[in-house]
Amino acid sequence: MLDVDIAVSLPVGRVTRYLDKLTEYHGYLRRKIETFPKDYKSNPKQKLNQEQIKIYAQMQKLEQQVMVWEKTKEKIKKMLWWDDVAKGLTKLNQANGTHPENTNITDTKAIPTDSAPPATLSADGRAWFIHPVAMVDYFNVKEKKTETWDSVTNSRIALLHPRIRQQAINFINDVEKEFGVQLRVTTGLRTFDEQNRLYNQGRTTPGKIVTWVRGGYSYHNYGLAIDVIEIKNKKANWAEKVLIRISSVGIRHGFSWGGDWKKQKDYPHFEITFNYKTSELLKKHEKGKLDGEGYIIFD
Ligand SMILES: [Zn+2]
Repeated sequence: MLDVDIAVSLPVGRVTRYLDKLTEYHGYLRRKIETFPKDYKSNPKQKLNQEQIKIYAQMQKLEQQVMVWEKTKEKIKKMLWWDDVAKGLTKLNQANGTHPENTNITDTKAIPTDSAPPATLSADGRAWFIHPVAMVDYFNVKEKKTETWDSVTNSRIALLHPRIRQQAINFINDVEKEFGVQLRVTTGLRTFDEQNRLYNQGRTTPGKIVTWVRGGYSYHNYGLAIDVIEIKNKKANWAEKVLIRISSVGIRHGFSWGGDWKKQKDYPHFEITFNYKTSELLKKHEKGKLDGEGYIIFD
């Protein structure tokens, strides 16, 4: 759904600035029209002078344009609705098979909810501000980058499963472009050994418990998950607020978000599961369904 992707990708700032200008222009025209003779509509050509006729024509043109945009907006809203339903269903399915993994287990603020929150279409106000001009504009500047702002992040993305590397790059870059937030991938691929070592921590080795799952039961073990954090003034910003703000960008690029989990929310965590449970991935791993670099081969 290319159109939807473009629609929800629009930087809201740019479009609202444009619409502000239009509103301003509309106000200017309206004020001029208010000075027209009261009955000008009965015969504009007779009752208006040259300048007024021009203003009147500009107003008509603008109103026509607005009508077209309104129609486009309606169309896009319908498309987004379907996209949202599809995504919501996928998410529900995944929620049943996901092993909750939480790197911030001491967090007591996480409130389990009965149902996954419905992803609101225009939570960030974007879908409502679309018009064809802006869409074309956006389409032209869109490019597929091969790296992000951050070399640490780049090297971690390079170790992810090949099928999700571009999504991760696009996610990080779009968050920077749209929110001015620079994300760093703090964890990407985690080997089975590393996972087991983490699992033992707080159980058989010193430290506090940081994960609930053994090697093979985290999507990180297959390079299918990333944890991200904002880097601000060269420091990590651990506030959940910013992760909640940018989560829709990750979801848009195909990731499921740990903040959507019913229990043990994991705000920095994003994963693409291709609808496989970790137990299924582990089976593939054990059967050696791996490519030359050791990544799972999906059928
Ligand atoms: Zn994670």
